[in-house]
Amino acid sequence: MIVLVLNAGSSSVKYQVIDPEKRESLAKGVVERIGMSGAVLTHQKVGDKQIRLSGEILDHKMAIEYVLSILLSKNHGVIKDRKEIDAVGHRVVHGGEAFSASVLISEEVMSEIRRCIDYAPLHNPPNLKGINAAMQLLPGVPQVAVFDTAFHQTMPKYAYLYALPYTLYKRHGIRRYGFHGTSHRFVSDRAAELMGTPKDKLRIITCHLGNGASAAAIKYGKSVDTSMGFTPLEGLVMGTRSGDLDPAIILQIMHKEELTPNDATTLLNKHSGLIGVSGISSDMREIEEEYENSERARLAHDIFTYRLRKYIGAYAAAMGGTDVIVFTGGIGENSSMVREHSLQGLEFMGVKLDQKKNEASDKKEREISADDSKVKVFVIPTNEELVIAMDTMRIVKETK
Ligand code: ADP
Repeated sequence: MIVLVLNAGSSSVKYQVIDPEKRESLAKGVVERIGMSGAVLTHQKVGDKQIRLSGEILDHKMAIEYVLSILLSKNHGVIKDRKEIDAVGHRVVHGGEAFSASVLISEEVMSEIRRCIDYAPLHNPPNLKGINAAMQLLPGVPQVAVFDTAFHQTMPKYAYLYALPYTLYKRHGIRRYGFHGTSHRFVSDRAAELMGTPKDKLRIITCHLGNGASAAAIKYGKSVDTSMGFTPLEGLVMGTRSGDLDPAIILQIMHKEELTPNDATTLLNKHSGLIGVSGISSDMREIEEEYENSERARLAHDIFTYRLRKYIGAYAAAMGGTDVIVFTGGIGENSSMVREHSLQGLEFMGVKLDQKKNEASDKKEREISADDSKVKVFVIPTNEELVIAMDTMRIVKETK
């Protein structure tokens, strides 16, 4: 089976061609600067060199058409006919309360995704554009939506409700939804496999640390809490996002700095987090390079790892203990320093890191806890595209 995985953003479309039966990626790439000058397609067939092509790409439909033509091309392609694409899997950011799992896309599903635009005004509209374009270009090919929020729909009500007037939940859907669900699901499943223990017997804390970052408490296979909330702004410190703060600060800054709601949103989402504190970079590698020299880089790093440590403690409390901690995402997979600092002092709850294993630069999935650590710690590279392809295959087979 061949599945085309699409992740349509406001001005970009990421894609990957995957054979989910073999769990193999055949090609991947991204179209960037859609609707702008200098639009470019970066494509890589597995085993070949990456290529870059530029062209005029006005909208998402043209972008996906461009992707299909490169997938069909003699030199760089991986298929001979569009008909070889058996299904398309779409990453959709927000599924609200309507979706607790991936679904086959129908008119009804499309209107539910449209209804969730209020919650994710920057993400769901381009996701819908991607779905519409793929439907037009590959008529009759089943399309599946895989939601970032779905995995967290198992949270109990006391975990997902904010202590605000209850009518705001009823009227506007103000609650915690959580994101990165596909990644938390993938790495927690994988951790259970590595443990050789069924997931319904494990309490797992997953830390997805990329440019966006979130932690999740996964008790007996179900997400029971996660750090991102109504939007991805809440929780951990991120590259450019503040994560948790006193909500009164926002009102105070808006007043003092004469900011509009849009300005405040930009300040919290684009100018805060690592870049805001350090004044150097939103990129963890650059923060770590300056850790010894720059006080503000050190502070940014320390705030990041301290916040994460508090979440790990909180989630252990929420689950009545923890058996496994998983690190994933660009930072979680690569920064031994973040892993070491965030687990510092957690020996009291049975976490003991093996320094050597933690520092080994081997990128593959591995255990990094000491042999006598009660809580096992793993580094597990995430693979959201593979999850999307596998879900798509399962749903298409079920509906046949
Ligand atoms: P995204 O959330 O955009 O998918 P990634 O998961 O690729 O992002 O993570 C990007 C982050 O990973 C950046 O902050 C980058 O600095 C960090 N990162 C990548 N490699 C390393 C490394 N070797 N050491 C520390 N941080 C790293």
